[in-house]
Amino acid sequence: MTTLEQHLAAHEYTFGACGCGQEFEYDSRTLLSTIRDAHRAHVAATWREARTVRTAEELDALPAGSAIRSGECLMVMDRDKMWVPVWNGGPTSDAFLVLWTPEGGAV
Ligand SMILES: [Zn+2]
Repeated sequence: MTTLEQHLAAHEYTFGACGCGQEFEYDSRTLLSTIRDAHRAHVAATWREARTVRTAEELDALPAGSAIRSGECLMVMDRDKMWVPVWNGGPTSDAFLVLWTPEGGAV
């Protein structure tokens, strides 16, 4: 799973574009703060996507101690690699946001 440092390194802003190739259109009337805001929103959205798992294989690949969330469903993987509900309001989809992993830390 991508760490925050790896993600930020891959999405460093350079003149008019992100390190991943995403370009930000601008002209002489575009405020620099508008481009910065667009880049920040892009980095946040791609970070959330990088921390989202959708398949049973992806869930099983997470290390023991990981915490995931979908809607109001919060689960933690125990030492036996079983998902234990901490707060079970029911997942809103098959996609889970990885909130924390032992090696990657918190989102
Ligand atoms: Zn990017």
